[in-house]
Amino acid sequence: MNIILLGAPGAGKGTQASKIAENYKLLHISTGDIFRANIKGGTEIGKLAKSYIDAGKLVPDEVTCKIVEDRLTWDDAKHGYMLDGFPRNLYQAQQLDKFANIDLCLNINVDEALLMDRICGRRVCSCGESYHVSTLNGATTCAKCGSELYQRADDNPDTVKARLETYNTQTAPLIDYYKSQGKLASVTSGKGSPDEVFEQIRKILDK
Ligand code: ADP
Ligand code: ZN
Repeated sequence: MNIILLGAPGAGKGTQASKIAENYKLLHISTGDIFRANIKGGTEIGKLAKSYIDAGKLVPDEVTCKIVEDRLTWDDAKHGYMLDGFPRNLYQAQQLDKFANIDLCLNINVDEALLMDRICGRRVCSCGESYHVSTLNGATTCAKCGSELYQRADDNPDTVKARLETYNTQTAPLIDYYKSQGKLASVTSGKGSPDEVFEQIRKILDK
């Protein structure tokens, strides 16, 4: 099964992706994580991506589509994968349809009023886990792997505003794109816990 996770920044795509990967043995491919690894490694892709990411804009399609197309040819993607953060606009979705067979688009709905606090309070680990300061009780290390947590450079109010605008204008139209293909399933992430959202996802994936 090949699935797409769709949702605004802060909707909880990454959090649900780790739960889905664990429970359904699907490979988790996050374009945001790939870009951040490139920035950390100082690669050409990283240098290019950084300026866009810091501005809350999308990294150019040619670069992003090529990265995903290549990644999907690896052996570990043969048994099913989950795309987190791709596609993010109509062009990317159309390109994806040329090199992949997507079974389902899982859309995580969220009340926009919650997003600013969720994102600005987010602390992440290099292992992929993310946390919110409100539940860390002062802890500064990852409960899963023990590494030091940090705040993403783009998790600041100005960049978040730009990212939400990018989501609303460019990414949200994909909801209709996948609905018209008959592939859309939606869940709602509200004030409840990540486990409650995962229960909704489980019902969909178990069908
Ligand atoms: P979030 O979902 O919280 O915004 P991501 O880690 O998915 O975070 O993405 C961080 C940034 O990486 C985006 O704001 C964007 O600049 C860039 N990015 C990620 N995926 C894509 C994509 N498919 N196309 C273009 N840019 C992307
Ligand atoms: Zn960790």
